[in-house]
Amino acid sequence: MIRTTCPYCGVGCGLKITPDGKGGADVVGDPDHPANRGRICSKGAALGETLSLEDRLLHPEVDGRHVSWDSALDTVADGFREIVTRHGPDTVAFYVSGQLLTEDYYAANKLIKGFIGTANIDTNSRLCMASSVAGHKRAFGSDTVPGLYEDFELADLVVLVGSNLAWCHPVLFQRLEAAKRVRPAMRIVVVDPRRTETCDIADLHLGLRPGSDVALFNALLAELQRRGATAKRFVDKHTVGMDDALIAARASDVGQCDLPKADLETFFDWFARTEKTVTLYSQGVNQSSAGVDKVNALINCHLLTGRIGRPGMGPFSITGQPNAMGGREVGALSNTLAAHMDFALEDVGRVGRFWNTNRVPRKAGLKAVELFEAVRAGRVKAVWIMATNPVASLPNADAVRAALAACELSVVSEAIRASDTVDACRVRLPALAWAEKNGTVTNSERGISRQRPFLPPPGEARQDWWIIAEVARRLGHGEAFAWKGVADIFREHARLSAFENDGQRDFDIGAYADIDDSAYDSLKPFVWPAAKGSHPTTTRFFADGGFFHSDGRARFIATAAREPLHAPSTEWPIRLNTGRVRDQWHTMTRTAKSPRLAGHRPEPTIELNAIDAAQRGLQDGDIAEVISAWGRAALRVHLSRALRQGEAFAPMHWTAQLSRAGRINAAVNPAVDPISGQPELKHTPVEVRRVAVQWHGTILARRPIMLPAVTYWARIRGAGCHAYLLAGEQPLASARRALSAAMRTANPGPWVDGEDALGAVISDGRLEAVMRIGKAHDETARDRLAPFMAVAQLDSEQRCVLLHGGDAADRGGEICACLGVSNASVQAAIANGAMTLDAVGAVTKAGTSCGSCRPEIRALLRAARPRQAA
Ligand code: SF4
Repeated sequence: MIRTTCPYCGVGCGLKITPDGKGGADVVGDPDHPANRGRICSKGAALGETLSLEDRLLHPEVDGRHVSWDSALDTVADGFREIVTRHGPDTVAFYVSGQLLTEDYYAANKLIKGFIGTANIDTNSRLCMASSVAGHKRAFGSDTVPGLYEDFELADLVVLVGSNLAWCHPVLFQRLEAAKRVRPAMRIVVVDPRRTETCDIADLHLGLRPGSDVALFNALLAELQRRGATAKRFVDKHTVGMDDALIAARASDVGQCDLPKADLETFFDWFARTEKTVTLYSQGVNQSSAGVDKVNALINCHLLTGRIGRPGMGPFSITGQPNAMGGREVGALSNTLAAHMDFALEDVGRVGRFWNTNRVPRKAGLKAVELFEAVRAGRVKAVWIMATNPVASLPNADAVRAALAACELSVVSEAIRASDTVDACRVRLPALAWAEKNGTVTNSERGISRQRPFLPPPGEARQDWWIIAEVARRLGHGEAFAWKGVADIFREHARLSAFENDGQRDFDIGAYADIDDSAYDSLKPFVWPAAKGSHPTTTRFFADGGFFHSDGRARFIATAAREPLHAPSTEWPIRLNTGRVRDQWHTMTRTAKSPRLAGHRPEPTIELNAIDAAQRGLQDGDIAEVISAWGRAALRVHLSRALRQGEAFAPMHWTAQLSRAGRINAAVNPAVDPISGQPELKHTPVEVRRVAVQWHGTILARRPIMLPAVTYWARIRGAGCHAYLLAGEQPLASARRALSAAMRTANPGPWVDGEDALGAVISDGRLEAVMRIGKAHDETARDRLAPFMAVAQLDSEQRCVLLHGGDAADRGGEICACLGVSNASVQAAIANGAMTLDAVGAVTKAGTSCGSCRPEIRALLRAARPRQAA
């Protein structure tokens, strides 16, 4: 058994892994890890299904040809050297990732900032929490998360702002849910324009108008002061700027939040009267052109009440990625240096002394969106992308693809071959994946954990730090990168955190600067700070001041509410919000391999309010084109009661590999916060139009199919098969002919026509491929047909049911990914009298494993109660 850390969200759950010896593994939560105490969510539980080498990049490639490592590394080093020599260091850039381990991150940052001599390195965490970093630094003088996860459980009021915790950080949601079960008096407020699954446990949902968060928290600040909730001693002794912040707050108009007065009163009253209050916030706050002001507006309320750094209270930024915090620690954002230092002269000098270099740049580099704009404009001529997929994930994503096509030298280090970005880059360097990598990650509560390999390196893949060090050596900096392994890098990182620190900087893990290799191997999770000579402890920051501005005081920031940069208009009347769904992760390079994760949301959707849909002649299951001033995507329509009129939501996960037309980021606007540079991924004005498709189809096939040109397709994994969900504008008969030909090319055998628009390839009694195609969308076709693919040899009755209909199960989509329980099974249990979560669990087992589906089961229960009462 190996202890490691989950590679997905910023909760950073500990896992216990038992490899099966055949390339797979059993994955369970680690009961000894402080982040999750044995809990796990559906994504973590399905990790064992994502380990195959299918779609992996296993050999270095240059211009599409397999080359040796030496040749690939020479190409990278020679290219960077030549461009730097010709045009200067600011014409090259790295774009890295919160998926990198801290040691990999450290190596990348050291090479480009310390030795190439530019700060042009940015991380995809720019898309996730750059506004929090900037807000922290403005308020605290440092990028410090003051609290700990246990504060959610200790609080009497938890305010969740712009966070669908139930889907995006499920284990923290489980912890919160459990705490509320034990202490029902604990109050939970959700501040979110959407009524998400997180509202399931909320006492109050404030469905505010998108973008009006500053107005809300300004109103709260003014109200707290008016009601006498000011912690005068704390404010006088430890802060600066309250009066200006209050003047700005009073000038805000809370009416723009469009919230019921009674709900506002309740919220203000609870906040004013509850000492133990935590405000947890996430991408709904950060991904905005006013993200930094939103962060500071809510931090202001905690400074005013002195509720910070004590058990059960404080502002808490929760990160999206597993190692966003590690990236912040090593300085992988272009506007930070290393070990939480900046570009102040003394910091530049200190880092230069430590690395023994005089090349450390004196100014910040390009932030993600401007970095790729600079690539497109030719100002950046070489870019090295590591462990991330900007062609799919950055806003205005088609422009990123164009930028890479025009770039003199585009390099990608990646574990996955099937990636839009790998397709777009000239030099492809095979990197290790989660199961093979060795190092550390830091979660949202400053907890550093080991990630340990449990599978051997496949093909010629190498860990990122090794690749970076080899390029550094070829550039003539071998001595500074002569690490023998990850423990060497971790020790150096720890030494830098303590170097000339003396408590002046928050990030200090000097206690680990001299650990030996075996202590590193067996390192237990710990929360920083951990200065040399200190005892391991779980520390909060700022209960007694001690802020990191030069005077030791925090800053109130006067914030004025402002509209998103691109407001809806007559031409683009709908406000598009993007985000995650429960069972997928980022650009799906891993989660798409898991059949059970595919059951929850199998294709890219546009969620619409029923009124907006009706105005456009759209019904559930239609295909709609989402069009903006920047681009377009074609998605399946999903009507939702969670959205206000005029708003839409689309998951950000789908790439061209999985749905060529379904890349929503092609349509997302590239506006950024002026301070943090974080893109406004939650506010794109769009129009939504019905695509006049003539038919909808579902294909399941044992071997992948080369699809003919169709208007819309999405592909996912089924158990033992590939599933395709399709729709098209061409006539049904010709589409049917083209698709059946494609099926038979990849899955040879006799074609058999069935009833109800069904056709199949059945060879020697085994179902090789099956298609249902017709005028109407049949959402349950995949679930009905999948059981037949699992049968080794169809008997005559099964063949008859497949081709002519009968008692095949209508599963209606999966609700419990862990145990494969369908929506239909849960509905049947409820209809038969199971009217509580426990009762549904007892009958169907749904919700009894990781618990990620419990909010959806509760929603079905709620919907059923009025029916039963009637
Ligand atoms: Fe992984 Fe789920 Fe834990 Fe996040 S909550 S770290 S996705 S197991």
